[in-house]
Amino acid sequence: MQLARRMDDIAESITLAVTAKANALKKQGVDVVSFGAGEPDFDTPGFIKEAAIKALQAGRTKYEPTPGTVEARKAIAEKLKRENGLEYAAEQITISVGGKHALYLAFQAVLNPGDEVIIPAPYWVSYPEMVKLAGGVPVIVRGDPANNFKITRTQLDKALTDKTRMFIMNSPSNPGGHTYEPSELDELSYALARFPEVWVCSDEIYEKLIYGDTQFRSWAALDWAKWKDRTITCNCLSKTFAMTGWRIGYTAGPKPLIAAMSKLQSQMTSNITSFCYPAIVEAYTNPQSGVEVEKMRQEFERRGEHMWKRLNAIAGMECVRPTGAFYCFPNIGALLNKPLGKKGVVSQEAVAFCTAVLEEAHVALVPGNDFGFADHVRLSFATSMGNIDKGLDRLAAFLGNG
Ligand code: PMP
Ligand code: GLU
Repeated sequence: MQLARRMDDIAESITLAVTAKANALKKQGVDVVSFGAGEPDFDTPGFIKEAAIKALQAGRTKYEPTPGTVEARKAIAEKLKRENGLEYAAEQITISVGGKHALYLAFQAVLNPGDEVIIPAPYWVSYPEMVKLAGGVPVIVRGDPANNFKITRTQLDKALTDKTRMFIMNSPSNPGGHTYEPSELDELSYALARFPEVWVCSDEIYEKLIYGDTQFRSWAALDWAKWKDRTITCNCLSKTFAMTGWRIGYTAGPKPLIAAMSKLQSQMTSNITSFCYPAIVEAYTNPQSGVEVEKMRQEFERRGEHMWKRLNAIAGMECVRPTGAFYCFPNIGALLNKPLGKKGVVSQEAVAFCTAVLEEAHVALVPGNDFGFADHVRLSFATSMGNIDKGLDRLAAFLGNG
């Protein structure tokens, strides 16, 4: 059987694969603690669910406009103005099937074969693959763990060429758990200013999950060089409102870009699920939303601090303190190439290490290889305190720290 050549060039999403493996083991009766999936363990707030239920019961079961209803796009535009200081008309917003689809459409809409896309590492697994699917060439710039994984202006300067077409900014970051301060975004913008044809794709899906005194600012809100005219702002409801399964994402940007993305979507998925639109309006207009989001944020912050402290207490693990999202991304370099666990398994990189941990300790971690760091592993702290302690007890025991 012959499949398209492009299938040889892309990897399956490791985050989803690890989660599927952990779930399959659980189904077989194995008591697995999963730090795999990056998804809130909370349920979607009831009033958001109610809006969709009511719409469904009222017969909202037909096709809708591809980029979304005017009401939902307006609610998003008002959110962007209120929370991000960004003025967009409803026609400058398109709603897609999750943040993933929004990013995929954006890359398809602006990249030509051979265009270079600068991606800071560690990066979310899907960026390089989606760039390649659009014919682009990922150019990886490695953030130094000593600088909390953040890349510098000098590094960005060096990576920019005449072929660069896009720069991807993901702050707060998956998997690094780091967040760029507004002044650090300014620094990077000075390097990019020399290349006015380069788009900035700002993936802001973790904007609400920031910790300590960390500040978030949208890239498009940079107040010089008309950044808004060449910034693609992608976001979704998945993480903020614990709605990963709903598959709702959106993009704000210049009108021609949004029209192009909508045209593409019209040939792919059409509109998102019809009865979800009123839920978007509810999420962004009900005053209770802020309260619910803040409750979840506080709990993530508590768990993140706890996980970070515990990981650093394990000999051989070194972890940057998370300032955003819900991931710890410890370095396991000191644990490679030596026998571990009862079976004395020797791992040379993170995939083998995670396999050994899953098989012997029944703890699911995501190897850092597909995030661009083969000597790191990712743990999601979007799981209960009880699970965090249980999983880390097992991990510590596996590593001889029990
Ligand atoms: N961007 C990042 C950085 C992510 O971690 C994810 C994973 N959820 C997405 C985009 C995609 O989000 P969604 O689940 O809404 O497709
Ligand atoms: N983004 C989440 C993660 O990194 C969900 C899985 C995915 O879409 O990659 O775990």
